[in-house]
Amino acid sequence: METILKISNLHKKFKKVHAVNNVSLEIKKGNVYGILGPNGSGKSTTLGIVLNVVNKTSGDFEWFDGSLSTHDALKKVGAIIERPNFYPYMTAEENLKLVCKIKNIPFDKVNEKLELVGLFDRKDSKFKTFSLGMKQRLAIASALLNDPEILILDEPTNGLDPQGIRQIRDLIKIIANQGTTILLASHLLDEVEKVCSHVIVLRYGVTLYQGTVDGMLANEGFFELQSDNLDALIQAISNHESVDKIEVQDGKALVYLKAPLEAGELNQYLFNKNIVLTQLLKRKTSLEEQFLKLTN
Ligand code: ADP
Ligand code: MG
Repeated sequence: METILKISNLHKKFKKVHAVNNVSLEIKKGNVYGILGPNGSGKSTTLGIVLNVVNKTSGDFEWFDGSLSTHDALKKVGAIIERPNFYPYMTAEENLKLVCKIKNIPFDKVNEKLELVGLFDRKDSKFKTFSLGMKQRLAIASALLNDPEILILDEPTNGLDPQGIRQIRDLIKIIANQGTTILLASHLLDEVEKVCSHVIVLRYGVTLYQGTVDGMLANEGFFELQSDNLDALIQAISNHESVDKIEVQDGKALVYLKAPLEAGELNQYLFNKNIVLTQLLKRKTSLEEQFLKLTN
């Protein structure tokens, strides 16, 4: 798979703040990457560095296998890292045509991209009449005018209402399905869980997890068990080799695993010890719980 961007051991220090601390990341064509982390974790700084608006302290990044200068490589990158800003008294179409003129892109891209982001019907409305969500979608249309290899978005749904959030997330998925690689920064893990295939989790600039979103979700999980005699249940299960720890919550035993264990196998094991379960539920730890665990 073609590499779009390779970041190696990147560092950024602002005086005492080590904003980006040894971050490495390889972005392959066709995937959707999330940089996930609480505010101040170095997401925007990382994006700023690869977009040449922030100077790195050390480390390296390389666009398109180093075949182009950063200046030329960035012509194949669409990025929105600030609040969208267009001319308020010009229409959506006029604003995009102006971008085409500046970037030397044929005008016929304007309607195509307005259609894509669901603003074709509103192309004759002035920018200032747009909702924040519409402004954001216009910014995405603008960033896509030159059919970039990769679209970079920093907190794309910040400040939007639930409907606006939904529209942007759906749009990101559509753009990804058309083959555009996406890199987005977000402090919202449900956003990353819903849109991204790959994730790097940062805290204080340090990488806490890196890999597929599925991989982050895949752990052994835990069981929720109930029985008429909870004490006997806990007693019986505490010696099982796959059990990591047991917590009691609302009259249920939460049994965390350190090795794979199927529900049927567990049921049989307990039944052989004369424990009859009244409830047996196998649960995966959600990304949210994982994220909190990682960032705590
Ligand atoms: P995020 O985008 O994850 O919220 P940032 O990359 O914006 O995080 O910031 C990471 C850290 O670097 C924060 O502690 C922030 O205060 C600091 N920082 C960012 N930009 C500057 C700057 N221009 N000068 C000094 N400190 C900065
Ligand atoms: Mg930021």
